[in-house]
Parts: sequence; structure tokens; C-alpha cells
Amino acid sequence: MHLLGSARGPSDLPLKKSEEYIILEQYDPHWWKARDQHGNEGLIPSNYVIENRKSDLETYEWYCKNINRSQAELLLRQKSKEGAFVVRDSSQQGLLTLSMYSQAKGTHSGDIRHYQIKKNHLGQYYVAEKYLFSSVPELIEYHQHNAAGLITRLRHPVGSADCSSPARAGFSYEEWELNPSELTFMKELGRGQFGVVQLGKWKATMKVAIKSINEGAMSEDDFIEEAKVMMKLSHPKLVQLYGVCTHHKPLYVVTEFMENGCLLNYLRQRRGKLSRDVLLSMCLDVCEGMEYLERNGFIHRDLAARNCLVNAEHIVKVSDFGMARYVIDDEYISSSGAKFPVKWSSPEVFHFKKYSSKSDVWSFGVLMWEVFTEGKMPFESKSNSEVVREISQGNRLYRPHLASQTVYQVMYSCWHEKPEGRPTFAELIETLTDVTEMG
Ligand code: ADP
Repeated sequence: MHLLGSARGPSDLPLKKSEEYIILEQYDPHWWKARDQHGNEGLIPSNYVIENRKSDLETYEWYCKNINRSQAELLLRQKSKEGAFVVRDSSQQGLLTLSMYSQAKGTHSGDIRHYQIKKNHLGQYYVAEKYLFSSVPELIEYHQHNAAGLITRLRHPVGSADCSSPARAGFSYEEWELNPSELTFMKELGRGQFGVVQLGKWKATMKVAIKSINEGAMSEDDFIEEAKVMMKLSHPKLVQLYGVCTHHKPLYVVTEFMENGCLLNYLRQRRGKLSRDVLLSMCLDVCEGMEYLERNGFIHRDLAARNCLVNAEHIVKVSDFGMARYVIDDEYISSSGAKFPVKWSSPEVFHFKKYSSKSDVWSFGVLMWEVFTEGKMPFESKSNSEVVREISQGNRLYRPHLASQTVYQVMYSCWHEKPEGRPTFAELIETLTDVTEMG
């Protein structure tokens, strides 16, 4: 608030010219309860102050409401300028996040950092603890001139202009539809249940994976409806869904490009070369992505090494979450079908199709086993019906040579017959972190 005059009276908060005050309560039209920058509270006469327009974030070009982490990354990569930045609403309610881009030395792709803008008990804002500001615009202005703890200073605001029209016509922020004319195709990456997956570029700058959905392979309308929900799922350990092109055939599903391909092949190609620490940290990556899904009440339904992908930084991310629901293929849908993932399924799933985050935990245990065997097929040559019999008799996968007793205990705990006997992903993160730290 900007002050116009001075105040009087016993319970008044002394007013100083040009100082800013936070209004706590509007007692009556004339007297407001306010707090000054030093934390003093009291009444001020409302006619002595004017609203500080500058604190209205939406007037700043660097503020972009309603975009999530990955959309911010898209915008910043599209700009690809040293010090490009945007301020957005954090996934934590009421907080803001500063996302910025820096051209890391010696690398091709830029580095993107996300800093939460924090507030201390005096209501001052900061990203680097030492530098405190009474408003976010002041904080941004300071960091436009000084890196002061950030990877670089803030040089190029990217935001309101870029996330409204005409860019919106191409990549729209509340919608899930991408403009296919902004996609170019580069090469085939692989083939899956739905069809061919290609490497492409969005707006000629940003690499993306484009999945073309074969005619009749997917319940498309149901998927398109769900895509709106899936777009909102955003976590560093999940392969991001960027959008879909639904106005032509085939339907395209556009996702984050993962340079090192699927985890199963990655493991098989590097047999004997990956240390136990690396194997454990891969499991932890997957567990973090899954904990986010668990927290958001989203069930994967087909977690396995073949459905995880590895990026250029060798980070493993969970992919294809929830997609099993849209597959049209009896061999895959029926639990007696040849493609049903029985070897990754808990008893309540192969018997009754009862999916839950706890059935995902069972699959996670099998995924850990795949990681620690460097990509072996679980239950090797056993048929699906033999696996059902083995599991029902209480038998489980053996301990892989690379897994310590402790690591084996963790995967084994995921295979409790009853869902309630298995740990949650949140608990698994704790356990796996402890195992990592014990060395
Ligand atoms: P589907 O969902 O149709 O079964 P997949 O997701 O299994 O298809 O993809 C098939 C193959 O394409 C994968 O094994 C992988 O090699 C490649 N692929 C899929 N998505 C990506 C991606 N985002 N980045 C890089 N490669 C990918």
C-alpha cells in the first residue's frame, strides 16, 4: 500500500510516507487493521492509503498464472536464452516458484532450475536466505541485477506474453490440445502396444516423443478425457504428458523425450557395468515418481521396467501411467491373455482385477528385481498359469546376486499376499533412502 498522508489516535499504527502495509482486516469502511514492514500491527484510516498496484502480480510480464512445472520448462526451453525466467504458482497452494534457464557450460541442453519463493515469519520474501524483500516484484528486480545465490541473474522474462495468444493457439495452457503443424518428425524410436513412437520437435526447438495411435488400438474418447487429468500430473520422476492432437487421425500423444530409451533395454545393454549404488538410485527414482502418483490417488496399473524410461542425465522416470485402461486388445486385457502382465501382478489383480496403489507396490517389487538382475525376465520361462500357482502357494522371486539381504527384504516386503501388509511408496522412499545411506 502506498501512503498518502499521516494518521492519528491511540491504537493507530504510525504511518510513514511511501511505506507499504499489509491489510489484515477491514474493520469498517474507514479503519483497517494493518501490519507494517517491521511486524507492528494496528489500525490505519483507510482514506490515507491507496492500493499498491505494483503488488498485483498479473501486471508483470514475468508472471504466468496457471502453468505447471513442465509447461514452464517448455516455455524456457523454447526461449533457450541464458537467464530466461518465469514466475508461476507453485504446486503447493499459495506459494510461487521461480523457474529459470541457464546454458550450462559445455553442455548442449540448458539447465532448468525451480526455486520456491519463500516467506519468513516477518512476511519477507526470499529465494536465497540472505536476501530478503518485502514484495515479490522487489525480489525479482534485485535478482535481475544480481545472481546472489541463483545459477545466473534473471535476464529475460518469459511469461504473460508467451503464455497468452498467439502462442496459446499452439500450446495452450489450460487445454491439452497441441497444434500438429507445430510438430516435426525426426526418427522412429520404437513401437509399442498403441503404435509407432517417433522423436520429433515442437515449434522446431524442443525435442518431444510423439506416439501415433493405431486405428482401433485405443479407447480414444476415454483417453482424451483422462488426458486432461494426466496433463496436470507433473513430477521430475514422471515422463510428462505435454498434450495430444485429437483433430486428425492418427491421434498423437506428445510426451517428454527420454534420450536413453526404455529402462529394460538400458539395463540389458549395460550388464556388468552398473554399480549397486546406481541400481538402487534407479529404484529410488521410480519410487519417487510412484509416491507422487500414490499421493494424488492415481494408479499406474502396469508398472514394470519396460514402462520406465531413462533420460540423458540417466534419471529414470515412470511412463505410461494409467494407460492400461485404454488398451483395446483381449490378449492384454484378460488376465488369462498372453499379454496380461501376470508376472508383475499381485494376487488380488490376477484373481479379481482389484487395482490400487498397493497393487502398484507389488509391481514395484518386481521392478526392483528386474533392476537388480540387470533386466532378467521374472520367473524366467514359467508360463503365466504356473506363476499364478507359484505365487498362490506362497513362493516368491529369488534374491538377485547383486541385491544385498537388505535390498531383498525391501522388494520382498512388496510381495505380501495382502495389500495392507505391503508398505506404501512413501514408506518405501524412507526405507530405500536409509539403505542408500547405509552404503
Ligand atoms: P506403447 O505405449 O504404445 O506400448 P511404449 O511406450 O512402450 O509404447 O513405447 C515403445 C518404445 O518407444 C519404447 O520401448 C521406447 O523405446 C520408445 N519410447 C517411448 N516413449 C519414449 C520417450 N518418451 N522417449 C524416448 N523413447 C520412447
